[in-house]
Amino acid sequence: MRLTVLGSGAACAGAGGNSSGYLVEDAGVRVLLDCGHGVASSFVATMAPDSIDHIFISHMHADHFIDLLPLRFAVTRDMNGLPEPRGCLHLPPEGKASLAQLLSAVCFPPDFFESVWHVREYEPGAQHDLATGLRVLVAGGVHYIPGWAIRLDGSSSLTYTGDTAPSEAVCDLARDSDLLLAEATLDEPEHGPVRGHLTATQAAELAAAANVRRLMLTHFWFDADREAVVAQAAERFPGDVLSANDGLVLDL
Ligand SMILES: [Zn+2]
Ligand SMILES: [Zn+2]
Repeated sequence: MRLTVLGSGAACAGAGGNSSGYLVEDAGVRVLLDCGHGVASSFVATMAPDSIDHIFISHMHADHFIDLLPLRFAVTRDMNGLPEPRGCLHLPPEGKASLAQLLSAVCFPPDFFESVWHVREYEPGAQHDLATGLRVLVAGGVHYIPGWAIRLDGSSSLTYTGDTAPSEAVCDLARDSDLLLAEATLDEPEHGPVRGHLTATQAAELAAAANVRRLMLTHFWFDADREAVVAQAAERFPGDVLSANDGLVLDL
């Protein structure tokens, strides 16, 4: 299983950086996890745009899906789309309605995405068999809107938190993963009833509780000190702690 970080930024990435996007390749299948700002351009710089088999969107915040627009144009500039859709776009529940609003706002036809990809909404607790030996599981996290963590089990196992506050469901999903790709957005933990993100320390505590092998921190604001964030997490997690810098390739 190979992970390529296409974007490791939060809602405003640093100069030259992208928002959320992670390519996972395993069992001959290419899976894109999230597609935030800048991810489409980075993807087409190295790979054929129609070579994605599956796209999973963790939640419908712009920094996780807005580059579906340019990525779709990369597949074809023809507004009529492809003769047959190729690949599958997996959206969260209610994701189709969100995309319909987006397409209306930008004056694109309602079938803009369906004309190149099969578009589906995954179900809470859903399991998807993408290929022999490659399976995807989804579990709900804690965010300001419904958000989902995504686990891939193939030749290795990887769990991506999406955007989440501390969550038992995400911890259960991540159990014994080879890699936890965890957001570490906050400098200070949130208090009060409305929570949606993790600090590096909370990400490390999640990794330790889930007994994962390695931890990769991601979803950084433009001014984050990534080395300091990794050092904070390393105080609470005994395994390797990495920073998900754009362009990083990791074989699991
Ligand atoms: Zn985000
Ligand atoms: Zn979000």
